[in-house]
Amino acid sequence: MTNCIFCDIIAKSAPAEIIYEDDLCMVITNINPLAPLHLLVLPRNHIPSLNDISSADETLLGHLLLTAKAMAEKMGVSDHGYRLALNTGKGGGQTVFHLHIHLLGGKQMDDSLLSRGIA
Ligand code: 5GP
Ligand code: ZN
Repeated sequence: MTNCIFCDIIAKSAPAEIIYEDDLCMVITNINPLAPLHLLVLPRNHIPSLNDISSADETLLGHLLLTAKAMAEKMGVSDHGYRLALNTGKGGGQTVFHLHIHLLGGKQMDDSLLSRGIA
């Protein structure tokens, strides 16, 4: 066990519903879903937040987005539409400090994103 729940999930020392994994990332269901479909795309490496990303991570970031797109297709929400969110820092609503992209779908997303939260 580490002090990072997502590192523990990636190491399979903590439980999660794993939807997909490859060399660079893992996709799990959110333990507290805010939409009928709520997945989290996690890089395998521990990167605390987007603030810790550099140009060396360009390929990884592209891979995370392409994975999110592929998961939307796999889960059948591509045509209807979906939302990706990447909370950064405490003030940005981030609560788990291991970089992750939220994939939310399966309902009509509220368009007042900025005033009412991500879903
Ligand atoms: P954040 O607020 O940092 O952008 O998002 C963290 C997300 O991780 C939250 O939506 C929360 O529900 C989810 N989460 C926190 N702990 C766990 C866990 O142990 N397992 C899973 N699957 N999701 C978690
Ligand atoms: Zn971590």
